[in-house]
Amino acid sequence: MEHYRRLGIADRVRALGLPREHPTDVAYFTRYSGFELARLPMPSSLEKSSQVACAPQTDQVPEPLHRANQMYVERFLVQHARTRPRISLRHGCRIEEVLPDADGVTLRDNRGRTLRARYAVGCDGGRSVVRRAAAIAYAGQASLDQDILGGRAVAAHLRLPTLRQKLLDGREAWSYWAVNKEVVINLIALDGADEYCLLTSSVDPDAFDPGRLARVVRAAAGTDLPVQVLGRRPWTPGVALVAESFGAGRVFLAGDAAHLFTPPAASA
Ligand SMILES: Cc1cc2nc3c(=O)[nH]c(=O)nc-3n(C[C@H](O)[C@H](O)[C@H](O)COP(=O)(O)OP(=O)(O)OC[C@H]3O[C@@H](n4cnc5c(N)ncnc54)[C@H](O)[C@@H]3O)c2cc1C
Repeated sequence: MEHYRRLGIADRVRALGLPREHPTDVAYFTRYSGFELARLPMPSSLEKSSQVACAPQTDQVPEPLHRANQMYVERFLVQHARTRPRISLRHGCRIEEVLPDADGVTLRDNRGRTLRARYAVGCDGGRSVVRRAAAIAYAGQASLDQDILGGRAVAAHLRLPTLRQKLLDGREAWSYWAVNKEVVINLIALDGADEYCLLTSSVDPDAFDPGRLARVVRAAAGTDLPVQVLGRRPWTPGVALVAESFGAGRVFLAGDAAHLFTPPAASA
């Protein structure tokens, strides 16, 4: 949010995601139709903005944490990037070779084109080609040994048109855990209406079965409900890796190329 503030787009990013008054609580249930076990209350975006508006000028947090799914943020960022005259977007271009020398960096892409620049900054995610070309290693924890969201897991984008209205009305949260003897899942509210991100290790991450995914959600709900799977991917929770250096010569690292952190369980 601090970077977005410097770019003058913080307010537009803050408008993405949950409605402003939606709580960002983390709530734990036996099943969504059953008992609420615990709740960690957290302020809505509206409450956070009001606190900032009332804070003294010396306050250190002009841009408090904001929760908005990357699908919404990145859609906005790409639209914004298109309006910037000094940014060229090259969709479908994959850098395959990064060759630094004393005066600059030569890059080769998947279409055989060569680019020459004085510096290269790798913002190319956790499996960064740029980081490997600069021979910078990661240090830290690459996995988490625990029963819930340890090892490998699944993240899925779901549409659950009746969940909120039928089971969660009056018990709104940002993160809805269901913990019972059959399944453990975390549903994260994306738009405050019917879109959710499902995080679970109660299904096989490498064998996609939408029917199984729907059954797991129904076991967490404790009742039948329509489940639409919009997307899914396997992922490894609890990764906390930091590059041993953020630069080598004319090559620098940013974002997950420099540090890969997927928060464990409740804070994910
Ligand atoms: C399931 C899941 C849950 C997560 N939850 C959270 C969370 O709650 N909070 C949080 O803060 N973070 C979370 N993360 C982590 C977060 O997604 C990453 O930290 C973030 O996406 C890193 O951003 P980035 O721009 O560095 O890399 P990325 O988002 O990975 O972007 C890298 C970009 O570079 C492109 N690219 C890669 N290689 C090349 C190449 N060779 N040439 C050209 N382009 C290339 C890719 O296509 C991509 O567009 C989660 C991640 C996952 C998978």
